Amino acid sequence: MKRRIATKTLKWAEPLPPLLPVRTVKQLLLCAILLVMPIRSPVLANRPRSFSSSSLADQPQVRTALDWFTKNLKWVDDEQVKLTEIPAPSFQEAKRAEAVRDILASEGLAIHTDKIGNVIGELPGSDEEVVVLAAHLDTVFPAGTEIKVRREGGRLVAPGISDNGTGLAGLLAVARAIQTAKIKPRRTILFAANVGEEGEGNLRGMRALIDAYRTKLRAVIVLDGSGTDHVTTKALASRRLEVLITGPGGHSWSDFGMPNPINALVRASVRFINTKVPAAPRTTFNLGQIEGGTSVNSIPYEAKLKVDLRSENEDEIARLESSLRDCVAAGVKDEMDNARERNRGKLEWKINQIGSRPGGELPPDSPLLAALRSADEYVGNQSRVERSSTDANIPLSLGIEAIALGAGGSGGGAHSLQEWYEPAGRDMGLKRVLLTLLGVAGFAPEKGPS
Ligand SMILES: [Zn+2]
Repeated sequence: MKRRIATKTLKWAEPLPPLLPVRTVKQLLLCAILLVMPIRSPVLANRPRSFSSSSLADQPQVRTALDWFTKNLKWVDDEQVKLTEIPAPSFQEAKRAEAVRDILASEGLAIHTDKIGNVIGELPGSDEEVVVLAAHLDTVFPAGTEIKVRREGGRLVAPGISDNGTGLAGLLAVARAIQTAKIKPRRTILFAANVGEEGEGNLRGMRALIDAYRTKLRAVIVLDGSGTDHVTTKALASRRLEVLITGPGGHSWSDFGMPNPINALVRASVRFINTKVPAAPRTTFNLGQIEGGTSVNSIPYEAKLKVDLRSENEDEIARLESSLRDCVAAGVKDEMDNARERNRGKLEWKINQIGSRPGGELPPDSPLLAALRSADEYVGNQSRVERSSTDANIPLSLGIEAIALGAGGSGGGAHSLQEWYEPAGRDMGLKRVLLTLLGVAGFAPEKGPS
């Protein structure tokens, strides 16, 4: 009975039962609050939802950390160049991970590498909860790509220099600034260099991080690329599919007329690219990679196509996938129907999912967003909210607060061989990251002499 009253009392708009003495009602109310906040102690419940940047910057240690960026920009540039020149295609990040591990260890953090290769430096807080600052290690460039960094005027030019050389350098710089200033956070901060963000990495590094810390995790800040003009608070859902069509194969002359998997794939593709997609919710598809055949004078025994589907609405992705299936079935049927020698071999087809990124959104009243807005105001920056596909998709899809940010400076040509980064203004971007991080991690000032 008491329990029921307590539960009802939590619907704030309802009047309290008038027959109970006031003291009892207050007690019940307190019990009710504690009941719905099982994971927070009363002390934590009193804590502000996020810390304003100006109150943080009143602390001498935080000021020391902020100054550190301005004084050590060359160190940050050098680390970025060094890391960018270590090849790190998705699934081959180990060498770059080792270099990051060495730097984080030299900053006095407790380091471990998890079983899929994420490097995690831990700065213990005064309570159990955890905040993650993460940057992905991997690049889209295959092994053997020329990745030596060139300096052109004020710019650094190399594949991967910005995505995610900037994010990794930012991660190390923030960790170093915090350690140099001897800042003790309230929540534990994990500095994570994670594997598997790009392409078929399919966010595997972030998935593993979230799995490992999920119960204690309160916020995730992802550093991805450059800039300070945006904050990603909405996760763009995507699905990646591989179409595979197979047949017996044969000789181009003597077996002419046998069903040909490449012909079938072309017929299917021409149908699919005519699929209408809505402008709102924005929905896109891309035929990104095509393979098959062994020589110009052979009827191939297989043909493959990789397709990327994205939408602001996950229902549209499902609709596109079913359209792709219909088109492949129809393309294969066309080829079989039109093959003069169709009795000499049947084509088979299947579609495999090779990646899936769930969608999600940060609520507008989120403490993490409040911390970012406060940091923007403090450093004099303006940023727009964006929807994008990043490591933040995973926490956002699970209702864990997360954003993705550029780590300052400016960049362009991401995922191309002409990718560039310009460090001018980087310190503002790093201050923004630090203040946002401490805004949600909190600050435990040193106790003075008693
Ligand atoms: Zn990236």
